[in-house]
Amino acid sequence: MIVLKSDSQLKRMQEACKISARALKLAGEAVEPGVTTAQLDDIVRKYIEGCGAKPSFLGLYGFPASACISVNNEVIHGIPSKKRVIHEGDIVSIDTGAFYKGYHGDNAATFAAGRVSDEARRLMDVTRQSLYEGIKAANAGGRIGDISSAVQRYAEASSYSVVREYVGHGVGASLHEDPSVPNFGTPSRGVRLVKGMTIAIEPMINQGAKEVQVGPNGWTVTTKDGSLSAHFEHTVAITESGAVIMTLPD
Ligand code: MG
Repeated sequence: MIVLKSDSQLKRMQEACKISARALKLAGEAVEPGVTTAQLDDIVRKYIEGCGAKPSFLGLYGFPASACISVNNEVIHGIPSKKRVIHEGDIVSIDTGAFYKGYHGDNAATFAAGRVSDEARRLMDVTRQSLYEGIKAANAGGRIGDISSAVQRYAEASSYSVVREYVGHGVGASLHEDPSVPNFGTPSRGVRLVKGMTIAIEPMINQGAKEVQVGPNGWTVTTKDGSLSAHFEHTVAITESGAVIMTLPD
């Protein structure tokens, strides 16, 4: 069931989104060689809890941390650990969610640790831009397929591949609501986009092949071929004048 939000509900949800965005920004600024993924998780949890909010991911389906932190060939759902030290040249995907006043905000970004390879930089740039292509295509009166195909076209034109098994989603009083928002698809197909819909658009883009696998901890998703992967996400609201990004820190 798709839950539409009124203007006043959107205003409240905006607060959760901002908290999540600020937590992500803070964690991203802390990404550097020598830091552990547990330290990054700590920054996220402390900031969110300091705002009087709850980390959306903590305990969700049994997830043991506040942020998903996925390094290099890890796509999503990486579990923060004191043993996982970030090295120069790593790319670090951080996904944060905050629950506040009855609503969730959800966003993610991939950050560079020190100097990264040109190829890693390009993957990050293309993945970020593929998110923005999806957001540009998210217009009231259009369909989910417009978003999906815009993301896919941009990523594949840069000769990268799009993960199929994990997709974006509606977000609101629950972190995961209808509809699903795949990062691949056909324009003018799928659920119609209407004012008041709030969705998380979140391309997961691989440098190599699209296939992924879940690791032995039951959570961490990696690329099957070991190639790098990047992940960017915003929560957006569909309005009469296009999609409005809700997860901006300022
Ligand atoms: Mg999400």
